[in-house]
Amino acid sequence: MKGFRTTTSLRRSQKKGSAARGLITAIWVIAQGLTLTLPALANKPNEMSYSDLLQKVNEGQVSKVEIDPTQRVARVTLDNQKKGDPPKEVALFEKYPELTQSLQKNRVDYSVQPTADNSAVMGLLANLLLFFLLIGGLLLIIRRSSNAPGGPGQAMNFGKSRARFQMEAKTGVMFDDVAGIEEAKEELQEVVTFLKKPERFTAVGARIPKGVLLIGPPGTGKTLLAKAIAGEAGVPFFSISGSEFVEMFVGVGASRVRDLFKKAKENAPCIIFIDEIDAVGRQRGAGIGGGNDEREQTLNQLLTEMDGFEGNTGIIIIAATNRPDVLDSALLRPGRFDRQVTVDLPSYKGRLGILEVHARNKKLEPDVSMEAIARRTPGFSGADLANLLNEAAILTARRRKDAITMLEIDDAIDRITIGLSLTPLLDSKKKRLIAYHEIGHALLMTLLKNSDPLNKVTIIPRSGGVGGFAQQAFNEEMIDSGLYTKAWLTDRITMSLGGRAAEQEVFGDSEITAGASSDIKAVADLAREMVTRYGMSELGLVALESGGNEVFLGRSWMPRNEYSEEVATQIDHQIREIAMHCYQEARRMIRENRVMVDRLVDILLEQETIEGDDFRKIVEEYQAQSTVVNVQS
Ligand code: ADP
Ligand code: ZN
Ligand code: MG
Repeated sequence: MKGFRTTTSLRRSQKKGSAARGLITAIWVIAQGLTLTLPALANKPNEMSYSDLLQKVNEGQVSKVEIDPTQRVARVTLDNQKKGDPPKEVALFEKYPELTQSLQKNRVDYSVQPTADNSAVMGLLANLLLFFLLIGGLLLIIRRSSNAPGGPGQAMNFGKSRARFQMEAKTGVMFDDVAGIEEAKEELQEVVTFLKKPERFTAVGARIPKGVLLIGPPGTGKTLLAKAIAGEAGVPFFSISGSEFVEMFVGVGASRVRDLFKKAKENAPCIIFIDEIDAVGRQRGAGIGGGNDEREQTLNQLLTEMDGFEGNTGIIIIAATNRPDVLDSALLRPGRFDRQVTVDLPSYKGRLGILEVHARNKKLEPDVSMEAIARRTPGFSGADLANLLNEAAILTARRRKDAITMLEIDDAIDRITIGLSLTPLLDSKKKRLIAYHEIGHALLMTLLKNSDPLNKVTIIPRSGGVGGFAQQAFNEEMIDSGLYTKAWLTDRITMSLGGRAAEQEVFGDSEITAGASSDIKAVADLAREMVTRYGMSELGLVALESGGNEVFLGRSWMPRNEYSEEVATQIDHQIREIAMHCYQEARRMIRENRVMVDRLVDILLEQETIEGDDFRKIVEEYQAQSTVVNVQS
């Protein structure tokens, strides 16, 4: 149930690929500009018109004419022209019979002298230029779009020498800089002792472990922790990312492994850190498309190297992954990564600790409470929290304040969880529709008994295609404990459908938008969990899913079904039942409060944001009024 979003948002369709198209257009325009300007360069001031020429020929003032048919000019020498003056140039039509006629009639000396056709050469050059610009542009696009390991982007780097791994003599990171993952820190404290005082262990015949595997989601501080070990022990830190091993060219990865271990042995004692080890360490001979020779060679080399040095050389290998399930079992055997340390997303206390670490070098107003921030940020990783304080500091600087206040913190949280705020839309039908959608969510958050209360609702759009959002106050108790009640889950589903329900009630069937797609996905996920994991449906107390329904890319690419087709049908039926029931409920509530919905939309369109407390006040006032009316009538 991680990944609960406390925000529901209306997404606009995203404009992908328009940047690439823009680039091509730009190249096209530049090239066209070049081709257009080239002939213009040939123009000279020393000109005469065609009719002038005819007249002068007939008047007998012309002594000589040279016609150049390729450039379509006639170079004219006049009788009264000074010696050394260049001939006058006359642009010609495609055909000029009257000129040749009068030239013959007046017996003027004329000749035809075609120049080498360099306009064709120019054209060719311009076209070649266009061609290369286009190719260059395409390469740029391909390179940008493929960051995948072994993707075509890396093929372009072929032959270029790159730093294979980084070495830091001193990381400068200490255990004090890592907060919120105390268990992991304690376990790794021992590794520091191995590095500093190996005698203590070897004296009693203990074998020092070679490898430690750090397991946890991104941004939880795995890299930081590895650096802290090196920092505390005062040893060099070698690091490489698993994806850098996996190259398109067979043998490159294996040779990199060899290089890395060679360098490390020269610098022992030291730490070798392998990030994203799952990129090389996948189960061999498995995955979509069968085995991958290159990766297997790299993995074999890694295993050989790990076996190849004695346990007491003073090299400790730390690897990080968030997919331990796909790792080759050979990696986890004793003598390799036999120690595994889990680094999880921080709890409230952990977040508080991390915030304190990162607040050390920031100037904060005394009223900023770290406790309040930690409470508001369930699900944030250490990296998210570091980013949050940094964003707040940037906002503070931009607003020319001396110290960070709670206002900047709030804005930074929104910015990280939802996106950058953009300028509001102009008044339009679309804006009204977004307002109805968000008011639908917000009103249900307020009216439903078991729903978390509204924090704010806004129609100021955000980057990433968010047209507006209704945000709930954080319910840290529920999220941290994971003890969701059925009533809470049901109300959450109803609330998530509030946006679509309002669209349909107000604008009718044909006007509903695709903007609710993320709401619907959230609803489907929640309802599925209720049925298959929490036993909250008529199917009863069965755990139909053992959790983690990801496709195990490394093992088999077909998700294993633990139930029959028939049960699957029943599950789908139950899910639909829950969703439809909640949707009906949401529509009923919108319908019955339609007058209030309209009024709230008007206020939202005018103010663009309504805070939770103000929203509740409006709803209460309205409810008080309508009961008075009811009593009177
Ligand atoms: P991972 O390797 O797990 O993806 P990192 O170690 O690269 O995460 O974390 C990125 C940044 O986030 C760190 O440089 C640090 O600033 C911050 N950070 C993450 N976890 C913690 C933590 N537990 N304590 C302090 N800072 C943290
Ligand atoms: Zn929505
Ligand atoms: Mg990392």
